[in-house]
This record gives sequence, C-alpha cells and structure tokens, in this order.
Amino acid sequence: MSNEKIECTTHGMADATFVCQHLVKGEKLGFHVRYDPEIPDELCPDAWCNQCEETLNSEGEWNETSEAFADIKLLCSQCYEIARDRNWLEDSDTLDNLICSSFEYADEKQRSFIEKFKVNDHERWDWYQETGKLIFTHDGKPQVEADIHFSGSFSSKSNTWMWAWANQHLNEIIKTRSREVRKIGQDLHVQKLEAGRWLATEVDGWEMTSILAKQLGAIGTYRTKKEGGFTYMVITKAEWVSKSKVRSFFGL
Ligand SMILES: [Zn+2]
Ligand SMILES: [Zn+2]
Repeated sequence: MSNEKIECTTHGMADATFVCQHLVKGEKLGFHVRYDPEIPDELCPDAWCNQCEETLNSEGEWNETSEAFADIKLLCSQCYEIARDRNWLEDSDTLDNLICSSFEYADEKQRSFIEKFKVNDHERWDWYQETGKLIFTHDGKPQVEADIHFSGSFSSKSNTWMWAWANQHLNEIIKTRSREVRKIGQDLHVQKLEAGRWLATEVDGWEMTSILAKQLGAIGTYRTKKEGGFTYMVITKAEWVSKSKVRSFFGL
C-alpha cells in the first residue's frame, strides 16, 4: 500500500494497493505479502499468489521474469481485502484449535476476575491509553485499577474487526502487544491473526481477544462501548485501589 489514493468504480476514493495480476480476479490462489520495513503496520502490504511465489523463489528475487509473471496491478484497499479473503489458503483447524484452547483459558480466568474485582458492580469505567490503565469507579472513587492491552475493535458500521496494532489512532503502549498475535498468525499463516482488518462479528472480537489473553497470560478480558462499536482489551494485572493504598501506607 502506498499513501496514494485511487478512485475505485465500486468503492470510491480509497487507498491504493498493489497485487499480482492473478489475485485480482482469481480464487483460492494463495496469498503472500511483503511488509515494507518502513511501514511495518500497513493494512494492505503488496501481495501475490502461490504461482508468483514459486516464480519468485526459483528466480531468487524480483527481476524481469518474476515481475513480468506477476504483472502487478493497482487495487483499492477494499477490493484488496475482498481479493485477500477470496484467495487466502490456510488449514482451518489451526485457527479453530487456537480459538478453542484460548477460550477455555480466558473463560476460566474471567470468572475469577469478575468475582475477585466485582467487575460488573462498578458504576463506571475509564481507560487511559497513555498509561495503559483501566479504572473502575464507584461513588466517584476509583475502586479497581487494572493494567490493560488493547486487542482491537469491532465496528458495527463496517462489520469489521481491526487489530489494535493496525489502528494509527492508538498510543503505542496500549497496542504494542497485540503484535504478538500477528506474529503467531504470520508463523501459522492464519489470516484472521495476520491481517489488520477483516469482515467480522462481535464474537470474532471475543475470540481474537481470548487469543491475546492466552498469549499474554492475562487475568481477564473486557470490552467497552464506543460510537459505532466496541473496544476489546485484556487485563494483565488488577488491584483494589484502597487495598493498594493501605499496603503502601504500611510500606508493604
Ligand atoms: Zn500471481
Ligand atoms: Zn474497490
């Protein structure tokens, strides 16, 4: 993807992306990407199919032969994501198994987290992405303070999930650890873990969040409502504010 915009006949003005000629109309051709080291979090890195990958490997580099075979085309970012969904090949068991074991992990942690910190009984919550804290408040006083990492967000307008690392509006501290799931996705070649944004439901949000929870050894998960969707996060540490104050008073 470049910073250039193109006018798509279907989607209007959108970011310009580059894919091999075969991905434009093809199906189940495989999907390989190359991240520009200068834009490691880009949503739509340059992409090509299995056959192009084979040509690239036999040539050893992008040269006249491999480039002629790929014959790179310009697509709008939305057309890119549609082509990615249509062409990506993976073993579906890989993700299913990961979701299953992560849900089991997160579910068990969640019960004790809710019980221990009375998570559903507080009047309000506030999170601060600058410090990576989530504060539960009751009677105007902070009750529970938690360390959080965002997994991502669900948009009910576009029905898409976006990983936190792909969201340019978020502070680095709150999103950096979501990249650990992307790394798993790259190693296992699982689209939902590797791709920054894709068509999703709210349930996908919980599934992705539980995978991050297991990866980080989190003690709980949470989501907060925002305009047009939800922000999902994992909690790696929490304590009652009053208790911590008592502890610091006694120098414990
Ligand atoms: Zn190709
Ligand atoms: Zn388009």
